[in-house]
Amino acid sequence: MSFKMHLLTGRTVAVILLVLLLLGVLYSYIWRHYRDGIFGQEVRPADGSSSRVDFTIVNHWFHLVASDYLEYQQPSIVQGSRTDVVTVTPWLAPIVWEGTYNPQLLDSIYRPQNISIAATVFAVGKYTKFLRDFLETAEQHFFVGFKVHVYVFTDRPKEVHQVKMAAGRQLTVVPVPGSNRWQEISARRMELIQTLIEEKLQNHMDYIFCLDVDSKFHGRWGTESLGALVAVIHPGYYKDDRSKFPYERRHESTAYVAPGKGDFYYCGGAFGGLLQEVHRLANTCRTNFEADAKKGIEAAWQEESHLNRYMLINKPTKVLSPEYLWQDFKPRNPEVRIIRFSGVIKNYADIRPNV
Ligand code: UDP
Ligand code: MN
Repeated sequence: MSFKMHLLTGRTVAVILLVLLLLGVLYSYIWRHYRDGIFGQEVRPADGSSSRVDFTIVNHWFHLVASDYLEYQQPSIVQGSRTDVVTVTPWLAPIVWEGTYNPQLLDSIYRPQNISIAATVFAVGKYTKFLRDFLETAEQHFFVGFKVHVYVFTDRPKEVHQVKMAAGRQLTVVPVPGSNRWQEISARRMELIQTLIEEKLQNHMDYIFCLDVDSKFHGRWGTESLGALVAVIHPGYYKDDRSKFPYERRHESTAYVAPGKGDFYYCGGAFGGLLQEVHRLANTCRTNFEADAKKGIEAAWQEESHLNRYMLINKPTKVLSPEYLWQDFKPRNPEVRIIRFSGVIKNYADIRPNV
């Protein structure tokens, strides 16, 4: 009897220990997923934000549903429609050029998903003069037929031009303080984008694009540009060796890129993607910008330098060709079959608060 009791107790203890062990494994498994996966990842501070913001998972990004009724040209894997340009990066992100995609097919996939796109644009000081053309041409070319919410950040709300917007599209003016240094205006954008996502957009919009105001749309900019993290190749350097890219080259800066490194030189004037990705980008660039400022360093091209450092480590999942941010003073190169968005010619001395 006493021997049996002893055996029973021994077995019970073993079972309890096993259950406890299982519970422990389950707990650490759930905790790790809670931290890393489902609710936003923790990243190294220098090249990814360490902040934790919760985002709902976006289904349409993973699941592309096409209409059974749409007829379109058969795609080929042996005959590309563009042979004069490269249409994929070494990390297998598409590079979007005219002729590489079917706009009707893409729109038919995304329209039933009822996606929404936020766009931010800053017009501080005299830059309000660019707003009218920017907003009017966005109505004609930027995600036509989709839900678009444009956020205009300005210190001169009265100068924001009233534009007639199509159904489902709207504009919000966000008042911000002025500044007598354009470098500061430029630098503050990342912080304001981060705050906007946290306070207004999170769980209301799907994608966001952050655009320079001194520009106009001339052609379609739509669903082909959607991706988790989207960068635009700068029109000024895309044929150059990377040693010529105007990256930040001082070791002391968090935006530093070594001479033998770099994929493309990306524009600070246009970038975007899913909210959580752009939030991480904005937070990281802002944090690094502030760390530099504490050491008395301002990167060569302000947030463009920080964006380029970020994109070197956090590869964009979609890359937009220079069609998506040309410069009006540049003659069009033959491989650029369409200019969709372009920076206007401006006199810096006239419009910037300082030189
Ligand atoms: N910006 C502004 N007011 C200024 C300077 C800059 O609103 O005084 C904003 C504006 O959105 C502008 C962006 O910061 O498009 C980047 O500056 P800019 O276009 O002058 O730089 P660039 O494209 O010439 O490098
Ligand atoms: Mn600009």
